[in-house]
Amino acid sequence: MAKRTYGREYGFQTRAVHTGNDVDAETGAIKRPITMANSYELPYDPSDMNWSSADKSIYTRNGGNNQKYLQEKLASLEGGEDCVVLASGVAALSGLFFSLLKSGDHVIFSSVTYIAVYRLFNELLNNKFNIETSIVDTTNPENIKKVIKPNTKLIHIETPGNPTLGIADIKRIADIAHENNALLSVDNTFASPFNQRPIELGADFTIESLTKYINGHGDALGGAIIGQKKYLDTIRAQAQINLGGIISPFNAWLIMRGSVTLPLRMRQHNKNAQKVAEYLEGLDCVRFVAYPGLKSHKGYAVAKKQMSPGFGGVLSFGLDADHETHNRFVSYLKVITSAVSLGHDESLIVFLGENDERQYLYPEEFHKGFFRFSVGIEDIEDIIGDLQQALEKTGLLSGK
Ligand SMILES: *Cc1c(COP(=O)(O)O)cnc(C)c1O
Repeated sequence: MAKRTYGREYGFQTRAVHTGNDVDAETGAIKRPITMANSYELPYDPSDMNWSSADKSIYTRNGGNNQKYLQEKLASLEGGEDCVVLASGVAALSGLFFSLLKSGDHVIFSSVTYIAVYRLFNELLNNKFNIETSIVDTTNPENIKKVIKPNTKLIHIETPGNPTLGIADIKRIADIAHENNALLSVDNTFASPFNQRPIELGADFTIESLTKYINGHGDALGGAIIGQKKYLDTIRAQAQINLGGIISPFNAWLIMRGSVTLPLRMRQHNKNAQKVAEYLEGLDCVRFVAYPGLKSHKGYAVAKKQMSPGFGGVLSFGLDADHETHNRFVSYLKVITSAVSLGHDESLIVFLGENDERQYLYPEEFHKGFFRFSVGIEDIEDIIGDLQQALEKTGLLSGK
């Protein structure tokens, strides 16, 4: 049978199922197999080969089949030209930064980002590699204009931001970046390509922690950079082959499998999180709820413009209670698990106390203890029922 290809003329769900898969030529199996071998047979005279080539099968750090299949699918789902899949979301972030930036460059990054981004820009790249960095509240794009300068090479934003759910206007920031000869990268992990596609909004790079929604089952780490081939060829050569951030073929295969149901899972995450946010917002014992799908959210209008059909499955909220009561509340939960990470099939909650070193960068309501809640795909009645019984046990809510 001829090779089947599933281009952009097909819908998002069809591509989530089919792109990157094909009938295996050797066995006729209708799912491509995992290739775990780390080495490949060489040609008759290998002596003048480029041992660091990503185009030939030499060694799995140069690239393996399972990684390539996943890259094909993710480039398609994100609407980008090319994709590099690496060992984790952080490998993707650091791979982009180390490959793209050089000493003397200036970087602007969001005051709310994944912690490793903060550390890379605020401790490592600035102090050791002479890269100038500015932390900016990018929920207001005007703040970027105030600090941008001729050597600004990259603007890096995260929207929705982890853990405040702040929203940055991707299209406006892309325009500001390009008017100033800078590039824009967007960490799209909280939204996933089902709800938001930064490249279509003008961003140069999308970063995904595949560990979260795209794999969706909480059993593998991975990360991806999506963008133009002219940049990604360099990133592949540096971040994957020279820095060694390659993904395991098994993890690439797991993520390929998990990503098949991304649209189905996201629809349920969107629906459940919206209902949980509305439920919590209606309770007197809840101090605040941050979810971009709530009309009360500061970024609602921008979120509505750039996210569709939904706003993702993560929200943050705080109880009108002390530190200890927040912990007691979590100890009473039966369906929702206390654990880090997000975007898994199951609901996960994490209590972030009052002492986060970056709290001064967050909006006021986050200066007291709060929860980050990744709403899972369980029955909504069971999720809300679990919250309710735990609130009743803490004495914050009286029973019926
Ligand atoms: C988890 C996460 C990352 C890091 O991904 P890993 O796969 O854990 O390395 C990056 N950005 C965001 C927004 C995340 O939530």
